[in-house]
Amino acid sequence: MNHESSPRAWVDVDLEAIAHNLDIARQALPDTALMPVIKAGAYGHGLEPVARRLDADGIAYFGVANAGEARRITLANLRTKPFILGPTIPDERAEIVEQGWCCTISTMEEARHFQSLAALGNRTFTVHIAVDTGMGREGFLPTELGGVAPQIAALPNLFVEGVMSHFPAADEDVPFTQDEIGVFTDCVQTLSQHFDLRYRHIAASAGELGYEIPCANLARPGLLLYGVAPMASIYDGVLRPTLRLSSRVSLIRELPAGHGVAYGRTYVTDRPTRVATIGIGYADGWSRRLSGAGARVCIRGQFCPMLGRVTMDQIMADVTHVPDAAPGDEVELIGPHIPVTEVAERAGTIVWEIFTGLGPRLPRNY
Ligand SMILES: *Cc1c(COP(=O)(O)O)cnc(C)c1O
Repeated sequence: MNHESSPRAWVDVDLEAIAHNLDIARQALPDTALMPVIKAGAYGHGLEPVARRLDADGIAYFGVANAGEARRITLANLRTKPFILGPTIPDERAEIVEQGWCCTISTMEEARHFQSLAALGNRTFTVHIAVDTGMGREGFLPTELGGVAPQIAALPNLFVEGVMSHFPAADEDVPFTQDEIGVFTDCVQTLSQHFDLRYRHIAASAGELGYEIPCANLARPGLLLYGVAPMASIYDGVLRPTLRLSSRVSLIRELPAGHGVAYGRTYVTDRPTRVATIGIGYADGWSRRLSGAGARVCIRGQFCPMLGRVTMDQIMADVTHVPDAAPGDEVELIGPHIPVTEVAERAGTIVWEIFTGLGPRLPRNY
């Protein structure tokens, strides 16, 4: 006999929900091309399965973080090409040029390096010019553009296909973002004197939800594909949740009043308490910052407060009010009763970090 027991904790991913959320973006932005952002393993949902599901006509690129993710897209043999969102490291560039992955340039040094690599391979290499309209992470400053644009245009093996920027505060600072759209529009105008810009893009999910950006014709939705709108918008209530995080009860015990639970004994029972031990911990991405923060799980349809600190592989919850709870029971940590937004709030972080923190030990079921 060959016994393979089921995992203690796992993630169920709804690929149809992700495709649905992309459709919602497409309907809301009918004249805008889309670059679904699938960096960080598609925000914890699994890079290749998500890419395969979304690899349809009408998608401009897949947004990825680095050469390693771009390589995985290439190996998956998809129609859609990867676009490396952040700056490239010098020793990544030979592979990037050879593979023809699209990326951005922020300095003349990068432009010249790509030019020489492309010339060496006798290729034309496609880039987007990044401009820094406020993020402080990459891009030429808007004031530099007039000077560098002719220099870039003179590099014979570079093809400038687009211009990109990235909002730093679309969901936090509306006046700044509106000014920024004006700056970006000027940048597009300056560059248009030298290049035929097929793609002009600045908005991620929040920018796309909240603003009119007439000069842009490509959007880079990430979070909203995964069912969460970063700001109140027309998308409220139409996005579908894409992921469930579950675990199982390994043990149930009765503890007397005055008994500590977990490291540091930060929680001490104030009455006889039925305590469930559950097979998930911070090594799986159930953040240790959820310790003592009012986090809860759901067992047999009942909310159960988590007790004490999160440990590496296990957590404890109060099941005194769930008398039929038993070892082996499924535990919902993120799902229909417990939205990921609640988990992020209790952990004092953002949904992006909860999604991308879901660890490799968790099998993904599709
Ligand atoms: C991650 C990222 C996105 C997607 O952001 P969301 O807020 O998740 O939609 C878009 N553009 C760039 C440059 C990014 O780094």
